[in-house]
Amino acid sequence: MSIDPAALPPPAERAAQARLTAAKLRTVGVEGVALGWVDNAGIARVKAVPVGGLEHAAEWGVGAAPCFDVFLVDDSMATDRSVGGPTGDLRLYPDLDRLVPLAAQSGWAWAPADRYRQDGTPHPGCQRLFARRMEAAAAERGLTLRAGIEVEWVVAEAGPPEAEPVFPTRGPAYGMHRLTDLSDYLLDILRALGEQGLTVLQVHPEYAPGQFEVSLAAESPVAAADTSVLVRHTVRAVSARHGLRASFAPVVSPGVVGNGGHLHLSLWRERQNLCQGGPGPYGLTGEAEGFLAGALAALPALLVLGTPSPASYLRLVPSQWAGAYQCWGRENREAALRLVTGSTGEQATAANAEIKCFDAAANPYLTVGAVIAAGLAGLDEGLTLPPEVTADPADAPPGAVRRLPAGLPEAVEAYEKSAVLREALGEPLYDAVLAVRRAEIELFAGRSPEEIVAATRWRY
Ligand code: GLU
Ligand code: MG
Repeated sequence: MSIDPAALPPPAERAAQARLTAAKLRTVGVEGVALGWVDNAGIARVKAVPVGGLEHAAEWGVGAAPCFDVFLVDDSMATDRSVGGPTGDLRLYPDLDRLVPLAAQSGWAWAPADRYRQDGTPHPGCQRLFARRMEAAAAERGLTLRAGIEVEWVVAEAGPPEAEPVFPTRGPAYGMHRLTDLSDYLLDILRALGEQGLTVLQVHPEYAPGQFEVSLAAESPVAAADTSVLVRHTVRAVSARHGLRASFAPVVSPGVVGNGGHLHLSLWRERQNLCQGGPGPYGLTGEAEGFLAGALAALPALLVLGTPSPASYLRLVPSQWAGAYQCWGRENREAALRLVTGSTGEQATAANAEIKCFDAAANPYLTVGAVIAAGLAGLDEGLTLPPEVTADPADAPPGAVRRLPAGLPEAVEAYEKSAVLREALGEPLYDAVLAVRRAEIELFAGRSPEEIVAATRWRY
């Protein structure tokens, strides 16, 4: 018998855990707890309670309107068949196992929330519960996934948001100059992430002006999605303390390399990394190859989840290492699917695949859940990878390597044809995502790239 991953534990159990958590939080000076979720437009929304209210929140949830499921990036609302109006109520339940005091927001703690109906049944539109269901679908086959989402951001002086960004460093791409200019800032980010229990792998200056990146150790897909949200909150809070402002938007300056949200994934059976030691390309096992082939084939539709804004398509262009081609290649940074084998000797732990086309306008729970769904479908069908692309796909003969959709409408067409995603997401979540995408297409229709960038730059 399988256990429903979305079932709430009994209220008394939730209350008891919250009492213990609240007592611990008080000892470290926490007074407020932020209950966060990410909407279908990729915006992190929040309701907060005083620490004394955590027990009630854990027992009965905190109210939130269902219409948040169709909020857009500019806080207007799309209308969908079932949601969108002023009525109804959902309950936000903090995941107490993931609750953490915020190192850069003294007195505050944060917990990701799952959304349930008032009768305690899972809200079918809850993105985090969707990701948990997909993890469970992998577990039913004896498989686990390890994931990590890279966080890229651009930091600017905290001037008027409508002004063009002024960068606090003029150091070159990947330059030590930038690390020196922003020495205390970057150290504060490292410290805060470490205090929050996160394992940082790397922090480094990126390519675009004012751009940096942090990468985190692999964990379960839902945990990796939580981490990517927490990292962004942390970077934003540290930036504010330094008189700076961070942008995770797909593009911050039109025509300039943007911010990615690359997803690293490896597939495991018991303690065996299935991305190595097998008979497939570069040692992929049949299961890992099937999984990756499924994800690669589904990429045009997956973009609706992972590359979800009209602004995303200003970033997803060739020659910017954004992965604009539907192909794979070992260590190929222009391929949407980059195979990473690791150095000789460390393959058993290091081998993984990176999906590069995704960005941070995405709701990370939708991204990881949808990739698992597409991957498992590929594995079940026994798909194999197409031939590898070993060079820059832009240099291939025209048409030899398929470009990913160049705009959101084309991705939406692929999404509408995806029975796998429709079934995995379930009709309410599938429809709400579609309503948001269509409404954002309309919102930005006829606007220039400069206008789209200006409207989204400080929203994500
Ligand atoms: N900033 C690039 C992007 O838009 C990625 C650079 C890299 O490969 O890390 O995805
Ligand atoms: Mg990068």
